[in-house]
Amino acid sequence: DVAAPVAVALNGADLPRGWGLAAVPGRDDDLFAHRGQITKSPVRALSLAALQPRSGALLWDIGGGSGSISVEWALAGGRAICLEPRADRLDLIRTNLDHFGVADRVTLHQGAAPQALAELPEPDAVFVGGGASAALFDALWPALPPGARLVANAVTLESEALLADLHARRGGDLTRIEIARAAPLGTMRGWQPARPVVQWAVSR
Ligand code: SAH
Repeated sequence: DVAAPVAVALNGADLPRGWGLAAVPGRDDDLFAHRGQITKSPVRALSLAALQPRSGALLWDIGGGSGSISVEWALAGGRAICLEPRADRLDLIRTNLDHFGVADRVTLHQGAAPQALAELPEPDAVFVGGGASAALFDALWPALPPGARLVANAVTLESEALLADLHARRGGDLTRIEIARAAPLGTMRGWQPARPVVQWAVSR
């Protein structure tokens, strides 16, 4: 059976097919404890790709939510500081860090951007998943060391307008992510579009 050794090699051990954690970001939303505040799997995969994780690199995850971005950054070999003002969400994030075994690589920081940023060590990359405002980016930009990566996602018209303006002034890539999934439509199926996400990705 030629398939058997391939399965063993892929899993790295003699485990049933499909066991264990997938090797790349965009892992199932269901694997994370969350209450809707999570960057959904396909957008998370694109966000992690845009962040360009590298071994040992430090991420500021602004607007931690469920912590899914910090978790996938840590699984890619990085370290993260997860910034989140809400205590109930910090509890969720803690649960997810333990569940994925990355609690030693992610530091939780209760607080809100931009105020809390001044206390943090220099980042290699920053993800803005919440709290986007002109004041946040005004504080963030000079805090980015040369070569650092910045990725910001927007779902509201207001934050989208902010990112369009930043893209005009600072460059980088502005991408609109529109995803639809098949869902029941009466007795048949139809495309269920998700809200578009506008993503700005730039290197300092
Ligand atoms: N990327 C997250 C989801 C983010 S939801 C995930 O994948 O799970 C947005 C989060 O931003 C919310 O939890 C909200 O509490 C937080 N937030 C809102 N304003 C903020 C601010 N000024 N600074 C930091 N976090 C903020």
